[in-house]
Amino acid sequence: MQALTYQAEREQVIEAVRELDRRGLVSGSSGNVSMRLPVEGGAERYLITPAGVTYDKLNEAGLVIVDGELEPVGAELVPSTESLLHLGIYHGRPDVNAVVHTHSLYASVAAVTSTHVPPVVDEMVVYIGGAIEVADYGFPGTPELANAGVEALGDRRAVLLRNHGMCAAAPTVEEAMRVAILVERVSQIYVHAETVGGATELPDYAIETERQVYLMRSGLLESE
Ligand SMILES: [Zn+2]
Repeated sequence: MQALTYQAEREQVIEAVRELDRRGLVSGSSGNVSMRLPVEGGAERYLITPAGVTYDKLNEAGLVIVDGELEPVGAELVPSTESLLHLGIYHGRPDVNAVVHTHSLYASVAAVTSTHVPPVVDEMVVYIGGAIEVADYGFPGTPELANAGVEALGDRRAVLLRNHGMCAAAPTVEEAMRVAILVERVSQIYVHAETVGGATELPDYAIETERQVYLMRSGLLESE
């Protein structure tokens, strides 16, 4: 059997998918994971989970490599239906090398009520960059969804997709996973807090200080 290209990267993506499944952040074939591949000569290549394959049946060989125009490169399966969103994020954010999209429960509750999650716990600002905004509705798989997601994401690492779910974007697969898990946790905190007297936001000075930490760590400081 022929060896797979990008074996180490494929293993990272599969490990992420299994962890999402173990944690109950995805079910069936919902949600998807991708990463930017290191390619010599500047060509764009991305590794992404395929459309319509349940996670228990997915393995390294089933992942799809696409180019910057979303054309599959030597793959038999079709790339995830949300590939346009993943590519849109990569094109606008050179600091992002991994994207995780889920329909996790509490993030979806916030997305369905179209409620942005304000900065209510410190690690949100340090690791996500601030509030988690809600993108305007876009039909799944369309450029409208991709554009709305990219716009609402801004320079942060997570965004809610209205009436749909969430998306995390970070420099590595490991960090994108941590963000996806954090988004679910803070969404849960926020939704519960709102039902028991209302959430209070962090003080402004804390948000400002933590935001500087976020920008510095992300290499985004000069852009502000
Ligand atoms: Zn989705």
